[in-house]
Amino acid sequence: MKKICLALLGIVLVLNLNACSCKHEWAAATCTEPKTCLKCGESEGDDLGHNWGDWEIQTKATAAKDGVKVSVCQRCGEEKTESYRLETFFESGHLLLSPDEFCQRLTEKLYCQKAQLKENGSEMAAAVKGVGGFDAQYEEGEPIAAIFFADGENLLGAGEKDNRSVKILYVHFYTEDQSKIAHTMMGVIETCDGSADTTAAGKIGKEIVRAYEKNDVYHGDGINYGLTKRNGIYEFAVTIE
Ligand SMILES: [Zn+2]
Ligand SMILES: [Zn+2]
Repeated sequence: MKKICLALLGIVLVLNLNACSCKHEWAAATCTEPKTCLKCGESEGDDLGHNWGDWEIQTKATAAKDGVKVSVCQRCGEEKTESYRLETFFESGHLLLSPDEFCQRLTEKLYCQKAQLKENGSEMAAAVKGVGGFDAQYEEGEPIAAIFFADGENLLGAGEKDNRSVKILYVHFYTEDQSKIAHTMMGVIETCDGSADTTAAGKIGKEIVRAYEKNDVYHGDGINYGLTKRNGIYEFAVTIE
């Protein structure tokens, strides 16, 4: 073993001596290459690494589609891109989701329920129904709730499925089953607030129930949730501030 090491050391020494008998002619280190001799190729130290600038939006994310952000190296101009998704689905007082997009996203988030946008005459609402087969407490197609969309003044009507100025959601429950109501509420919370996962939505849900017991509204960050019971019917209102 010792002999091999010595032999290797000899080869390295010889190579180095042969490599550049004259003075090195150094090219400065770059983002990806260390300081390197132009004559013999010997290098010293490390590359500098890219000096990435701030992320800039190349393609804006929408509720339905991821966006693309780009950063440029301030030294060499190399570009890197990353996709990003919306963290929040509301801004400056309205949802970024149209009723149509809201229903698609809600259906992804719901547990054993699905939402489908329906138009009836001049009215429009999302019908939330049970999905059977996974959980014995749900029957296929059983009515759970209807969700109405308002822009702050009026309910959106037929033909407004792509309107992105929704400010208030009214969820009108057809069931009194509290666990089914909780499932719908959590789905709605996760749909509106992109930063809330199931655990966070569960916590917000508990706060909403606590507020409900005091006849109050739960004030979240830019979004308020109020649960009420009128004439035996539960209603859940979500208001974007
Ligand atoms: Zn050299
Ligand atoms: Zn660079």
